[in-house]
Amino acid sequence: MDSTSVIIIGAGMSGISAAKTLSDAGVKDILILEATNRIGGRIRNTYFADLSVETGANWIEGVHGEEQNPIWEMAQQLGLRTFRSDYSNLSSNTYKQDGGRYEKAAVEAAIDESEKIHSLGEKYSETLPPSGRNDISISTFQRLENKIPSTPLEMIVDYYSYDYEFAEPPRVTSLQNTVPLPTFDDFGDNVYFVADERGYKSLVYNLATMFLKTNSQGVIVDPRLQLGKVVTEIQYSGDGATVSTDDTSSYRADFVLVSVSIGVLQSDLIKFNPVLPKWKILALYEFDMAVYTKIFLKFPFKFWPDGDDREFFLYASKRRGYYPVWQHFEKQYPGANILMVTVTDEESRRIEQQDESTTKTEAMEVLRSMFGKDIPQATDILVPRWWSNKFFRGSFSNWPLGVNRHEFDSIKAPIKRLYFTGEHTSEHYNGYVHGAYLAGIDSANMIIQHIRDGFFEVEIKPKDS
Ligand code: FAD
Repeated sequence: MDSTSVIIIGAGMSGISAAKTLSDAGVKDILILEATNRIGGRIRNTYFADLSVETGANWIEGVHGEEQNPIWEMAQQLGLRTFRSDYSNLSSNTYKQDGGRYEKAAVEAAIDESEKIHSLGEKYSETLPPSGRNDISISTFQRLENKIPSTPLEMIVDYYSYDYEFAEPPRVTSLQNTVPLPTFDDFGDNVYFVADERGYKSLVYNLATMFLKTNSQGVIVDPRLQLGKVVTEIQYSGDGATVSTDDTSSYRADFVLVSVSIGVLQSDLIKFNPVLPKWKILALYEFDMAVYTKIFLKFPFKFWPDGDDREFFLYASKRRGYYPVWQHFEKQYPGANILMVTVTDEESRRIEQQDESTTKTEAMEVLRSMFGKDIPQATDILVPRWWSNKFFRGSFSNWPLGVNRHEFDSIKAPIKRLYFTGEHTSEHYNGYVHGAYLAGIDSANMIIQHIRDGFFEVEIKPKDS
């Protein structure tokens, strides 16, 4: 093991978790090449109105279940400041497009109906053959039950149930692979919001410092982590790989592990030499990179109802997904006067392309229709742009209709000494931080097995098994 070298592309959760697994197994000759000047990837905090806010991953999802979510365990060890998100009061906090709130009973009825269809969907999903060849979209199942959300109230409840989790509409999302969702089934239904000055990224940093050298200030100074290295080409064969970066450096190793997002793999940022086989390209392009955007707004004073039972509120627009899910920060940062609104998919793409002042005007109009004309103007706005960023191309993968086990296995399958990892390769938890962490361990173990046995047997499920 000692003499084997591995290059890992990307220092997000999966790349760092893979590198640590390799290091623990005695593979010390590792080199992590990261395009940006930081580790953490899609886990990133920034300062907004003097407070640390998470522009990428925010929640630890799947907590207090039968199995322990490894990310929750890490957060506990580090004493990360987290807050359980309680969505049980949405029925009292759902606003109409034309002003005023819906009657609690009306929202409750819409939620009950949505949950009923969801439970039926779970049962139906379990009857489908494992190959996925009879998979349908969530919307198709709703149609089968003659229940297509069509009023603003039904649409916002539907949005909250699906788009708010998967960042894509139920029309494209696979029923079989998301209903029930293994994350909540295995790890529990609770989700915890991270609001910590050190950032959610401190979990990645902590993992990295378990095998990378730091200086007395805690800064990683290990030459095996190279920041600002944009990989542009990977030449691979049965003997090893050569990786080139945009500063004309090149690096040689026995193995290469690619942890960039599926959005990046679908772009032309990295050239593969030889070109990836057709089955691999097809599988990579079939999976979806969804876009999820949290917009932060700062106000001179609070005008929304506060209290834990008012933390989350919904805006039921006739235009599905228009500034739909809102959250105040009074619990996390009392007196901060910050609101966060989440948009996804086409709305995210549209908003990424317009300037902040237009977005602020739109958000203010929505807030005025909820809280009246006299509310103060937002003094500041922050709009993260994950989709436009060439190192990410979106926020997280979503399992679309049309991708079966065969295609999914093909996404992660290695070719010669070229291996793949990242949240999109996670066996059960694609899209999540814990998925990225576990995928990193899995892919590293595949390489370790290859080193030990001289080969790695890929198991790709046949198309119609
Ligand atoms: P990444 O973090 O993308 O790591 C890949 C790394 O590769 C990046 O650092 C990138 O800079 C680097 N890279 C890219 N191209 C190159 C190149 N050419 N050369 C070198 N390096 C390159 N998950 C949750 O569990 N809970 C949440 O609440 C949640 N919310 C989210 C909200 C948003 C807005 C976003 C963006 C993500 C969210 N996620 C959430 C998903 C979670 O953040 C990701 O699943 C996880 O962080 C992905 O880790 P990764 O290592 O697979 O990929």
